[in-house]
Parts: sequence; C-alpha cells; structure tokens
Amino acid sequence: MFFVEVILPLALAKTFTYRVSETEFHFIKKGMRLAVPFGKSKIYTAIAVELHQNDPLVYQAKEIHQILDQVPIVTAIQIDHWFWIANYYMCGIGEVYRNAMPSGLLLESETIVSARLTSFVDEAQLSDEEYLVYQAIQQQSSLKVNDIVAILNKKNVFPVIHKMIEKKILFLEEEMMEGYKPKLVRYVRLHPDYNTQNGLANLMETLKNAQKQKDIVLHFFQLNAVEKKPIPVKKLVESAKVTTATVKALVDKGIFEEYYVQQDRVQYSSEISAKVLNLSDSQQIAFDAIQYQFTQKEVCLLHGVTASGKTEIYIKWIESYLASGKQVLYLLPEIALTTQLVGRLRLYFGDKIAVFHSKYNTNERVEVWQQVLHNSEKAQIVIGARSALFLPFQDLGAIIVDEEHEQTFKQADPSPRFHARDAAIVLANFHKAKVLLGSATPCIETFYNAQKAKYGLVSLKERFGKGQMPVVELVDLKENYFKKRMKGHFSDALIEAITMALSLGEQVILFQNRRGFSPIVECMTCGNIPQCPQCDVSLTFHKYKNQLRCHYCGYAMGKPTHCHSCSSIDLTTKGFGTEQIELELLSLFPNAKLGRMDQDTTRGKYGFEKIIDSFKNQEIDILVGTQMLAKGLDFENVSLVGIMNADTMLYHPDFRAFERSFQMMTQVAGRSGRAEKQGKVIIQTYNPMHNTIQQVTRNDFEGMYKEQLYDRQIYKYPPYFRLIKLTLKHRDFDKLKEGAMWLYQVFAQTIDVPVLGPEEPAINRIRNEYMRTIMVKIPQDKSIGGTKNSIKRILSSFEAVAQYRAIKVIVNVDYY
Ligand code: ADP
Ligand code: ZN
Ligand code: ZN
Repeated sequence: MFFVEVILPLALAKTFTYRVSETEFHFIKKGMRLAVPFGKSKIYTAIAVELHQNDPLVYQAKEIHQILDQVPIVTAIQIDHWFWIANYYMCGIGEVYRNAMPSGLLLESETIVSARLTSFVDEAQLSDEEYLVYQAIQQQSSLKVNDIVAILNKKNVFPVIHKMIEKKILFLEEEMMEGYKPKLVRYVRLHPDYNTQNGLANLMETLKNAQKQKDIVLHFFQLNAVEKKPIPVKKLVESAKVTTATVKALVDKGIFEEYYVQQDRVQYSSEISAKVLNLSDSQQIAFDAIQYQFTQKEVCLLHGVTASGKTEIYIKWIESYLASGKQVLYLLPEIALTTQLVGRLRLYFGDKIAVFHSKYNTNERVEVWQQVLHNSEKAQIVIGARSALFLPFQDLGAIIVDEEHEQTFKQADPSPRFHARDAAIVLANFHKAKVLLGSATPCIETFYNAQKAKYGLVSLKERFGKGQMPVVELVDLKENYFKKRMKGHFSDALIEAITMALSLGEQVILFQNRRGFSPIVECMTCGNIPQCPQCDVSLTFHKYKNQLRCHYCGYAMGKPTHCHSCSSIDLTTKGFGTEQIELELLSLFPNAKLGRMDQDTTRGKYGFEKIIDSFKNQEIDILVGTQMLAKGLDFENVSLVGIMNADTMLYHPDFRAFERSFQMMTQVAGRSGRAEKQGKVIIQTYNPMHNTIQQVTRNDFEGMYKEQLYDRQIYKYPPYFRLIKLTLKHRDFDKLKEGAMWLYQVFAQTIDVPVLGPEEPAINRIRNEYMRTIMVKIPQDKSIGGTKNSIKRILSSFEAVAQYRAIKVIVNVDYY
C-alpha cells in the first residue's frame, strides 16, 4: 500500500497520512498540493511532505481526492523552515502552513468565492463546468466551495475554481474588504487612417482652421517621436497645455482613439534608469567593514544614526548579489513603507523588484509566489513585511531586515507568533545566505548579540552629507504649567519654534502616541469614567464623530450628555490624543495646513501613502501623528519635531518601556533636519531629568543600552533570560482564576526555571474574556528545548482536566 504524509491548514500539531494509488505515489513530490477530505464532509488543500508505505495504525487512512499541482509549489527548505517555526514557537505545523501560503493557493470547502462584477466575461471561452459555475454565481453573487461541489456534482472542484480565479471571473470573498479596484489609465493614439504619409497631410489640411487641435496633434507627434511609447491623455494635456475637452473633441472627430490600460498594481512614479550610486567616505568604510564581517559571520548589524544613509548601503550590498543571480529579500516593518522604498530602489534595480503585500489580491500574491518559485528575474529582489519571509525562495543569497528593532516584526496574533528577524536568520541559515540587520536604535537583544560577537557589528555615526544630528531641547511641563506658559498642550517654546519654522517655509512634525481626542471622559461630580462593557478599559473620546470608542474591541457609543452613574451633566475630558492636538493647532495656527496620521486616518489601501505624499509635496505644513511617524521615513523639509508628552511612553507597564521610549523618541527626532540644515527637536515632559530622556537628548544609545542591560540582568529579562508567556482566557472569572493557579503550581513544581504568575494583566478583560498570564523565564545557558517539552507535557495534562478544557491557552515564545 502507498501513502502520502500531508500538512493540513488547521491548528493541528501533527501531519496526517492519506492513501494514494501506485501511480499517484510515483507522481507526487514533496511540496505539491493535494485536495483531501477531512472530518465529515470537509475538503482542504494539503501539502505533501513525505511518501511512504507505513499504514497509520491508529486510524484508517482516507484516499486523497486529487493532486492539484504538476510540480511542487513549496520547496523542501520551506517545509523545514515551517517545522522549525512550529517547534520553536510552540504551535501547530498546520498553523504555520496556513499563515505561510497566499489564501488563493489554499482553497477549502468553506472558502467563499464571489463574482468579479467589473470584468467582462466571454462566455464562449468557458468550459462546460466553468459555465455552470458562472451561471450559478450570477444568481447568488457568492458561493461556498462546497456549493460548487454540489453544482458540478463532483468532489474535485478546486482546479475549476483556480482557473476561474485566474480568468478573473471569481475572487475570494475575503478580498472584498479591501475594495480593490484596478486603476485604469486613459491613453490616446492616432486613428489608423491617419497613420500614413498621405493621411497625415490630409489631417493637417482638415485641421487648418482649428489651431488648438492642430497644436495637440503636433505635440502628439513630438511625444511619440521622443518616447516611442503609448501616450497617456494626462501627459498630452500637460505637454500641450490644453484641456481634456480639446482632446475629447479630437476623439469625437475620429482623429484620436481612446483606450484604457490597467495601471501596474503599484504605481511607481520614479523613472527607471541605471543610476550610479556613490557612497560617501564614511558609508564606504562601513560598507567595507560589512563585507569583511561577512567573511567571518552570518549576520551583521549596521548601527547607523538616522539619515546616515543606511538604505544606500543596503543598495550597494544588494548590487553585489545581483550578478551572481542570487535572490535577495528586503524586509520592512510596515507594508505602508514599501511604496517609498520601491521608488528609491527602482532607480538602481529597475524591473528586478517584486513587492509582496498582504494587501494584494489573490492573483497578485500568487503571481509573486510563482515568480519567486521560478527564480524569475522580475522577482530577484523581493520587498515585503513579515509575510514575505514565507515565499518559495530557490536560491536566497541575502536578507536585509531594515529597522530591525521594530515591534511589528513579531507576529502577535494569530499563531505562529514568530519574530520575522529571528525566523529570517534561521531561513538564511538553510540557504547559506547572509543577513544584514539595520537600525539607528537596535533592539537590546540584537546589540547584545553583536557585542558578544555572535553577529558582526558596524557603526555609522554621522549623517550623510553635511547633515548634523538635531538639537534636542527639553521643556519641563510642570514648571511651564505652573508659570502659565502653556496654551492647551503647547508650551510657549514649542509655539515659538513652530512659528519660526513656518515663517521659513519649513515643515513640522508633532508626535503624540495616542489617537482620538482624549483617552477618558470623567464625571466631575462622582468621578465615574465610562468603561467598555466588554473590556477592562475606559473608552476613548473621539470628538470628530462625537463618540466614545474602545481601542481594544471596537465598541462605540455616542458621547453621553450626562453621567450614567449620577446623572450629573458636569463631564470633563482628561489626557489628550492626536485629534485634540490637531484642533488646538487649528486655533493656534489658523493659516497652517494640517495633517494627521494615525490609525483613524490611514485606513484603506493607500491611506498612509496619501498622507505621506502630500506631506512630501509640502501640501501639509504640520503633521500630527502617532508612532507611525517613527518609521524610517525620509522628509527633506522638516526642521522641527515636537514630542507632545514623553511620559505616557515611559510609564507603560512593560520591561521594554524605557528601551521603546528611547527608540521611539530617537526615531521621531531623526525625522528633523536632513540635508544641509540642522533640525530641532522639542520634548515636552514632566521628567526632564529622567535617564531615558537624557539619553535621547545626548543621542546616547550606548548609555541606554548599558543601563537597560543592567536592569535586565537583575530582573531576569532578555537577553539574559528567554521569556515564554502563557495567556489564559475564559469568560468565567472564577474558573479562569482556578485554572491559572493549577497551571502555575504544576509549572512551579515541575520546571526548574523561574515561573511568575499567575498575574492579572493591566487590562484583564477583552471582548468579555478574562485573562491571566504566566511567565516562564529560561536562563541563557539552559536548553530552551527541554523546558518547552515540559511545558507541552503539562499543557496536555491541563487540557485533560475536564473543568479547564474550555480555558484557552496562548503560548508566546520570545514574548515582545
Ligand atoms: P537612514 O535610512 O540611515 O535614515 P537614508 O538612507 O534615508 O538614511 O538617507 C538619508 C538621505 O540621504 C536620503 O535622502 C538619501 O537619499 C541621502 N543619501 C544617503 N546616502 C547617499 C549617497 N551616497 N548619495 C546620495 N544621497 C544619499
Ligand atoms: Zn457622575
Ligand atoms: Zn472593548
């Protein structure tokens, strides 16, 4: 008998065995997809990982439905990497598989497909089966894969659906959320009748009394001669300085023909040219040092201050891999930054760049997947966030992890809760590739690894060109409030600096790490503060919508007119967010153009890009924003950065609070002053003498590092201890409390490393589920594998206790 071992896209720890025929046995390769039945009536896309002849003794192996691929679409290295992730981050292999694949490659019986209404369907081109599905979906607009099974009256419908997705007739329901609309660009061409010598003469004759129209036609010829490529209407209008109406007139006369072309999925405005990059002397020194480090080490940290030109060094480094035909992966903390970066990289690498986006639709993601799988030149350099790590690289030579300190590299939810930087280092190891980590404010663990010579370390301490580090000025809020030198949340010093910057035509960034208007509404009579009914947090006031909203579960209600507890109408607001800053600016600087960048204003596919673009184009004078501003953006004209209140970050209850505050403030400050001019940073705080704030002021990364390292050792935190955090959740408070205590006690008795808890987190209820946490701390010199195995064993006995079975346990390895 013949069997195949597969991974199913479910939260299951094991692989499963299915029966295959002998022919199938010889055809199937590791990494091919198979449609398999599972449970009562479900069908899933599984991935073959092994072929063997061992009958599973504990269950009767079912037969597969169908082989979906002719050749593997997942590589052997990927499968090894998935198993490493499942093992290291303590989750099911099925969860890793599910997370790694674009959903377009992962159809299952519950998947919902819809009709793509915008596209024209040539019914004659459809097969009989496609036609049946097409007809059904016209009537119902969306269908489950299982419905299609019924319509076609056969089990194996995935190939039909795949074809129809490819033909753009169907798409996956989940994409509807994105509101993806392909952008069409209007072009004109000359009607073929005029495209001859004779025709041209006739044309000039026809237009002899229409000077304007004649002009346009002449311009059209000029453009055509110079560029030899299609001419967009927009370009023609700009170049000939006419209105679109005049062009329209020519179309109406039948002289021009209009046509539309779908714009490339991401529009890169920059021209492609083989630009030559010259590194500055200090960049060159750093680059040489990196090259040297890589002769000794697999990983190297580039610690370069903001605006030192790290990107240029990455570019040089990528260049050194291109000729060899190796693939390069460039990881960013945030997909919103890709458009910016791609623009810069295209100048050097032209069409060799592919972007992998979780916001791309199925076809686009599958396309990049295929390009990477076939080692196509179009995807020699892949740019993306976390998820790009899972592409089927054939011959990966280099990985760049830019802004490696960013928290977003660690996936919090759903499982696998992996850290993309660390998983990238492991992936590189499989490929024998090198990893370059870059940051102005490296993560403490990373810097520690560099100090211990596990990674190479290269520092770049000066800005590119004549750029100088910004001057930091501290404003003592206590003193300023006392001396009445505050207008709202603005100190006189900050107002003065903004006035100055604006008068010089320079731009300003204001940072307040909290969205909304103000965090809380409080009753002046009884002190009542409206809380979220489902979570243990107070609601945030959003003035624009006049709502109170929960930032954890999305609950919203209209702002109350009176206290729900004592009916008093004397309500006040406390604390402040970006929205309030924006309103205060409106009255302080009525003539300035304001912009706001936070989660509320950057929703939608290109929300972030739009704000960044208008700021870059100087359509915005003052940009107010949350931590999104701290990401590596490069603005030319910003001379002032204001941090409205440094204290909320510092007093966040987390062992990384000081490290994060330092990173965030240093990064935001780094947006100030780029080219020639020295920038200024104003930090408003109640604690100007706080060590972390002093370290930001002196740009003293090493000082921060040493101080934090000392604390980490004393209080048993990374890098000296690895953390495994377990979060227990249940709707029943008492049951949870009991279960958490049970688990803690077994841990404490069984595991010979420090175990803390069970603790109530600062926010102990979200969406009506209560939470308790247990923290396991594993010393550096101890094998993490042994402890993990004990944890796994204990967790399965925990699940076996009937009254605790309903308690959810979330395991987070290397909790961030
Ligand atoms: P970082 O990523 O270190 O903050 P960037 O790579 O954004 O710094 O560089 C800062 C600015 O300096 C950018 O506008 C960049 O184009 C410019 N720059 C850096 N290096 C060079 C170079 N070698 N040649 C020309 N411009 C450079
Ligand atoms: Zn009250
Ligand atoms: Zn809530």
